[in-house]
Amino acid sequence: MGDTIFHKIIHREIPADIVYEDAHMVAFRDIAPQAPVHVLFVPKQTFATLNDVPEDSALVIGRLATAAARYAKAQGFADDGYRIVMNCNGDAGQTVFQIHLHLLAGAPLGRFGT
Ligand code: 5GP
Repeated sequence: MGDTIFHKIIHREIPADIVYEDAHMVAFRDIAPQAPVHVLFVPKQTFATLNDVPEDSALVIGRLATAAARYAKAQGFADDGYRIVMNCNGDAGQTVFQIHLHLLAGAPLGRFGT
């Protein structure tokens, strides 16, 4: 049982603009979007960072990525393109220690890291 702001969103203890939910995850709009579309896909299972996901839980990550792709297709921007990002620990700027996949889209994003 984790205790991050994202757990509070999962448990509806604080509001969020939820765009998708199933048995495994919740997806909601980032409060400080870095692109016209910026959605966070968060598993309901608790893992602080990607480092904490064991091989036998790889499906947790796969589900986030395929859900993001499905969302992009359903919203009509899959063919234009999008980016998925998962930050891990300090050098990547991770600020919320419950794993989450960023989906960024809606405009040319520039080359990653530049
Ligand atoms: P990280 O840097 O950990 O990969 O990304 C965390 C993201 O969560 C940031 O983009 C930040 O804007 C977003 N965020 C932080 N707090 C909240 C919140 O309370 N609600 C929502 N919707 N997004 C949040």
